[in-house]
Amino acid sequence: RGGQAQREIPFAQAGSLTKVYAIASGKGGVGKSSVTVNLALALAKAGRRVGIVDADIYGHSVPAMLGVADSRPTQVDDLIMPVPTASGVSVISIGMMKPRRDQVVAWRGPMLDRALVQMLSDVYWGDLDVLLLDLPPGTGDIAISLGQHLPGAEVVVVTTPQDAATEVAERAGTMASMMHQRVVGVIENMSYLPCPHCTPEGKEHRLDVFGTGGGDRVAATLSQRFGYDVPVLGRIPLDIALREGGDDGKPVIEADPTSLSAAVLTEIAERLD
Ligand code: ADP
Repeated sequence: RGGQAQREIPFAQAGSLTKVYAIASGKGGVGKSSVTVNLALALAKAGRRVGIVDADIYGHSVPAMLGVADSRPTQVDDLIMPVPTASGVSVISIGMMKPRRDQVVAWRGPMLDRALVQMLSDVYWGDLDVLLLDLPPGTGDIAISLGQHLPGAEVVVVTTPQDAATEVAERAGTMASMMHQRVVGVIENMSYLPCPHCTPEGKEHRLDVFGTGGGDRVAATLSQRFGYDVPVLGRIPLDIALREGGDDGKPVIEADPTSLSAAVLTEIAERLD
């Protein structure tokens, strides 16, 4: 930045009215980005002004899920304008900081830190009610940087019911706590598959594709470790509509609001609001 004074991060200022949630997971593929975009849309539907920072350096998938994969932020003076989406959510992605979409990002710690700070301080976010950050999976550089720059951010941990996912999810939560961030809850994704052959009325038959209890285990471990209640915020079923919504760039909250996954996501958004 050529000797320029670094701009302050508005969300880190005392008196900032923006709630900041970092969406974390222990490993990739558990649905962290899907959860992030759908919570953002649910909050926007409830009338909140919402921004998303896609800080998932290795798997930046948020823009595609929102149908703006090829959009690039514009610049006004020396401020970057976040990309607006059809659903009223503004987004900036680490992927948008690259000249070409297919370029591989091979940045190390200091570069990642700079990119994160830039997305928070050099982007014109305006007055947001909620800012969601899609973190990379695990306990890497970005999570440390976020803890340093935005200790007031609250963390939501996404896991699947599987043992293999829960232990790494606990580590991601513990990392947040080491950075003095509060872990506000656990979301269990891919919780179960509502059996398509059973009647939708009444209590349907569920297939526990990835086992059971992962969300509860992570919540119990973190509650015990931190000495405060870390609740399970919700259990999102496996849902074709959710996957399709992500692939089509039209999240399920918008594309299929009456689906079960959209209903659960809406409830979780209400708890975070
Ligand atoms: P992560 O951000 O944790 O890597 P993604 O959100 O990219 O995970 O999800 C990985 C894949 O799984 C995507 O194709 C997504 O559409 C799909 N997926 C996520 N959650 C569900 C769900 N509840 N039901 C069906 N598919 C899901």
